[in-house]
Amino acid sequence: MTTTPLKLFNSLTRQLEEFQPVHPGEARVYSCGPTVYNYPHIGNMRAYVFADVLGRTLSFKGYKLTHVINITDVGHLTDDADAGEDKMEKMAAERAQSIWDIAKHYTEAYWADVKALNIRQPAKWTIATEYIPAMIDFAKSIADKHCYELDSGLYFDVSTVADYGRLARAVTEEGEGRIDEVDGKRNAADFAIWRKTPAGEKRQMEWDSPWGKGAPGWHLECSVMSGQVLGFPFDIHTGGIDHREIHHPNEIAQNQAFCCTNGLDQARNSGANIWMHNNFLIERSGKMSKSSGEFLRLQLLIDKGYHPLAYRMMCLQAHYRSELEFSWEGLQAALVRLKRMVMAYRKWADNLKEGRMTPGDCWERERVTNALVARFEAAISGDLNTADALTVLEETLALKGTAPECVATAAEHMDRVMGLNLGYLQRTELRLRPKAVTITEAEIEAVLTQRKEARAAKDFATSDRLRDELAAQGVEVMDGDPLGWDWKLGE
Ligand code: AMP
Ligand code: ZN
Repeated sequence: MTTTPLKLFNSLTRQLEEFQPVHPGEARVYSCGPTVYNYPHIGNMRAYVFADVLGRTLSFKGYKLTHVINITDVGHLTDDADAGEDKMEKMAAERAQSIWDIAKHYTEAYWADVKALNIRQPAKWTIATEYIPAMIDFAKSIADKHCYELDSGLYFDVSTVADYGRLARAVTEEGEGRIDEVDGKRNAADFAIWRKTPAGEKRQMEWDSPWGKGAPGWHLECSVMSGQVLGFPFDIHTGGIDHREIHHPNEIAQNQAFCCTNGLDQARNSGANIWMHNNFLIERSGKMSKSSGEFLRLQLLIDKGYHPLAYRMMCLQAHYRSELEFSWEGLQAALVRLKRMVMAYRKWADNLKEGRMTPGDCWERERVTNALVARFEAAISGDLNTADALTVLEETLALKGTAPECVATAAEHMDRVMGLNLGYLQRTELRLRPKAVTITEAEIEAVLTQRKEARAAKDFATSDRLRDELAAQGVEVMDGDPLGWDWKLGE
């Protein structure tokens, strides 16, 4: 195991804390997963790039990682308070489709984005509807001391646990971060852990329970799946910053009720030692949403010709706790940066393959790259400073007169954390290639060969004509491009 201690920002204590695993040598992490009623937008995917970098960092530092991400296929309402409809039921009604088909379709779409962004598979995907009996058991075990029943469901009384809302710290004049939406609640912040199906109605998804037919509350799901698979307390719980306000305080209250009712002066009483939250990806017009304007799905970026890892690069350039504004210019810049890194990496890998060694003191060469790896590790260990870590990776790739075996090894080591796939990406994959362009790369290369011949024969009229023909098909010829690209596809 390496030496720089890993420090992470714990939202619960609002402090940087040194990572101390609950089980020596292991790291157990739970990430709140998507609600699969629609495609994820690229903001949602920022949450999983962040969780992936966290997991890769823990592996890099030698911990045996168990990462769990859930799939919410029941229970998440259109409003985070207890008003509104189940997102899944609503979409199913609008589409006149079964919830199960909708869940399957959007889960697969989400997994496709996970793969495209080179996010590692977690040890387990927990599907909420597969844990209903365990959710009922959990609710039964805390019901007497912490819950009360209303016509609409079983509610958690937040006054029965110490320090409710400590995570959010969003306090209004009424003393709570939220509005009372349900008649009969004892406290405005009380929340449903079981939602009864209203009399005379039938939901597509409903189960029998001691409180009547109904469905679990969204918060209950995550408490049960994280506790069952990872065991309380586990190490790290992640999610987007919106979850810091309602979802996670409610999970914490349930976990406290389940494990202990002690206060949160000891983080482990919350169920996880560290709670981490990524900030939002925003659009110039404000928060990203699935309904407003152009729906920013990863597939839209791909259709416009961007390699999905350019978006990963864009995420890594910002600290996960900072807001990140999406723009097409920013994405273009991230793509160019990725291209440069891929080409530099390729150069070192080729040198290595061809056995081109640099003469000199072996120890000295290793000293240089080892120092860079140590700086990389210090950056990533400082609350996942990916922006600094990227700079160190670039410095490594830009070394001169150093042995390729040292540079290639160091860069590969660093990219295991960054996940940019530098050793596998082909530069041709990184060309902007909008879906609308139909000309193939082989056709472009054939015209370019003809053009080279024309230029060699000083037949500039033919050379210009060929260039114009390519331009008419959306291909811009880039003579003398410093990055060595012969052409690119315009948007
Ligand atoms: P959902 O599918 O709505 O439950 O969201 C999935 C994940 O995306 C959660 O961790 C959210 O907190 C996170 N999230 C939602 N919107 C954004 C955004 N604009 N930027 C970053 N993360 C987000
Ligand atoms: Zn959750």
